[in-house]
Amino acid sequence: MISPTSAMILVVEDELAQLELLTYNLKAAGFQTATAGDGEEALVLVEEVEPDLIVLDWMLPKVSGIEVCRTLKRQSQTQDIPIMMLTARGEEADRVRGLDTGADDYITKPYSLNELVARVRAILRRTRPGSVSQTLSYGGIKLDLEEHKVTREGVGVKLGPTEFRLLSTFLERPGRVWSRESLLDRVWGREKDVDLRTVDVHVGRLRKALSLNDHPDVIRTVRGAGYALDKDED
Ligand code: CA
Repeated sequence: MISPTSAMILVVEDELAQLELLTYNLKAAGFQTATAGDGEEALVLVEEVEPDLIVLDWMLPKVSGIEVCRTLKRQSQTQDIPIMMLTARGEEADRVRGLDTGADDYITKPYSLNELVARVRAILRRTRPGSVSQTLSYGGIKLDLEEHKVTREGVGVKLGPTEFRLLSTFLERPGRVWSRESLLDRVWGREKDVDLRTVDVHVGRLRKALSLNDHPDVIRTVRGAGYALDKDED
């Protein structure tokens, strides 16, 4: 969803597993990332990488997230960098204080990674409109989320709404193998009245639509596992 000049996100989190999960998901969404494990390191890195946005954990060793936020919002050269605070559940008062320190948004742990990425995008759309585009692309395929248009090598591809959602899911993570169940969740939503074979039917339609004009098939069927968007067939 991000243009070639993708935004740089600084992720500050002392729990390694959380940090890895966050950076993995932000990268998958097309962002560049830098990481810091404590507040001191964060303040140094802000100068070095000049991030477009900071995802900042509240509880950090050395210098706390609040301190980092206050410091950055006090300095003229860093005060415009949007900050998304991560707070623990139930810290209602803290959350409010977080906003008082100048944080642009906060999200409560445990958070949904999809929601976090969506909110990061929303903040960037507001603050760095040039850094966020509504286009997903891969292997000559372009999907415009705003205009609801798909092209392959510049030629328009007609898709039904379900195939469009399927393709946008695939395009979020090219190469990733999606199980039919996970596609069902993502594309059809939580009501699982839909038969798993329906997924196969729509993947088949998408495959056919994308392969028009003798384009190579980009959807790989992974036996017993599901489907992936992939350039290399074998
Ligand atoms: Ca922490």
